Amino acid sequence: MAEKLSRAERRELERQQEQEEKILSKKREVVYKEMVQAQRLSLREEKVAPADSFISLQHINKIYPNRVQAVFDFNLEIKEREFIVFVGPSGCGKSTTLRMIAGLEEITGGDLYINGEFANELEPKDRDTAMVFQSYALYPHMTVYDNMAFGLQMRHVPKAEIEERVKKVAEILQITEYLDRKPKALSGGQCQRVALGRAIVRNAKVFLMDEPLSNLDAKLRVQMRSEIVKLHNELGATTIYVTHDQIEAMTMASRIVVMNKGYIQQIGTPKVIYNHPANTFVATFIGSPAMNIIEGKYFKDHIELSDICSIKLSKEMIEAHDKFYQEEIEAAHKRIEEVKEVLIKYEQDKKRKKADEEFVVDEALIEEELNADPEVNELRKNIEHYQECLSSKDGHAIYFGIRPEDIIEKGSASLIKNPSMSMKLKVSIAELLGNEYYAHIDFAGKDTIAKVNAELNVEKGQELELVFNLDKYSLFDTFNGKNIKPFKE
Ligand code: ADP
Repeated sequence: MAEKLSRAERRELERQQEQEEKILSKKREVVYKEMVQAQRLSLREEKVAPADSFISLQHINKIYPNRVQAVFDFNLEIKEREFIVFVGPSGCGKSTTLRMIAGLEEITGGDLYINGEFANELEPKDRDTAMVFQSYALYPHMTVYDNMAFGLQMRHVPKAEIEERVKKVAEILQITEYLDRKPKALSGGQCQRVALGRAIVRNAKVFLMDEPLSNLDAKLRVQMRSEIVKLHNELGATTIYVTHDQIEAMTMASRIVVMNKGYIQQIGTPKVIYNHPANTFVATFIGSPAMNIIEGKYFKDHIELSDICSIKLSKEMIEAHDKFYQEEIEAAHKRIEEVKEVLIKYEQDKKRKKADEEFVVDEALIEEELNADPEVNELRKNIEHYQECLSSKDGHAIYFGIRPEDIIEKGSASLIKNPSMSMKLKVSIAELLGNEYYAHIDFAGKDTIAKVNAELNVEKGQELELVFNLDKYSLFDTFNGKNIKPFKE
């Protein structure tokens, strides 16, 4: 239970929080102003689209007027015909990014190119994009035909051509028989098909889809999922699809962009994201049940997971470990310097407004602010931890990540090349899913899941003899969660 604080302690805590908030809002203000100014200057430069990508997002940032930064330094090159999925929990900035591409939201910083053209300042209607939303937003008083034809009529497409296009798309989507109906006489799935149809008839070069299936029930979602993929294969339009559902991301994407808290966590094919997650966030967000993360101890040439399992480390892993921590130390120092510059800049701006005097950095004040800055404090703690990880003789904490299907019952492990020593572990819960069990195991006090073939007949309380597939594990730092051996193409 949390200790009860005295009044003086409470006041001190409040004072600290106030000061932290003050510094954070200073930083936000400086970052916003600098970004807006840099962007203004940048827009005067001549912009040349990168030759080898169809949609290019370069250092895209979004800060809303209330100074909430929703997207941080988003970089992505999309090739023609790709099916890109933005995935992440609610509020991570997926829709904001998509809406900036569509032109529905202003870009605070960075450059956007679509189809060879600098697009930051293009009107939405000039971007050759068609958007499909979660709410189908069909016109209730119009028939399905008119709903699909409306956009083309507004663009003054000849009537005969409209008819031809609508009928063709209706056939692809199998909604021909509903063309005369009004939306209220359609099911949710049919409405979403019409919304898709309305986007397709426009022959847009880019489809932007914002959670288009989340209003549908589970079964229909699965069906529509494969229909959209089939449609993409047929039409070949470059597609960016936003979802919070990792299964949609894995099954539909040619490449996935995993986001969290406004930052890209990882970009890669579904296979790379699944097999080489960049950090514990990606590792546990993608895949169901989630990857098991077990705390272990890293020694110079092996790791120990409690007293249950010892794993010898490869030469590559040991090299990756040392390189990782050296780079993290450098990056943390660099970031602290950046924060310092931001704080100095704030003081400088303030002084300039007061008088035209020479600016002298008040080192003591800046140091005091750095000491009170929560980000800097965390970075400093991290540096200490990284240094210890590099030099520690008695081992340091590490997260060992292993997917449930890579914890294998010994009898079925003959096919894997690199099994760990075998471990006898007790099952606490056995969930039968038809063809397999999710066997929950108590691994040194941590609930760990293994997928076990249903033919084995697993029961609660039973002891299983298990091995890890050592070709498939990942190691993550315990402070920042990053994979210490990042994937290289
Ligand atoms: P997602 O699509 O991943 O759920 P969003 O892009 O909608 O996330 O939102 C990202 C962040 O931006 C959230 O913190 C959200 O509250 C904030 N946000 C979204 N729209 C606005 C707005 N118009 N004004 C201020 N903040 C906003």
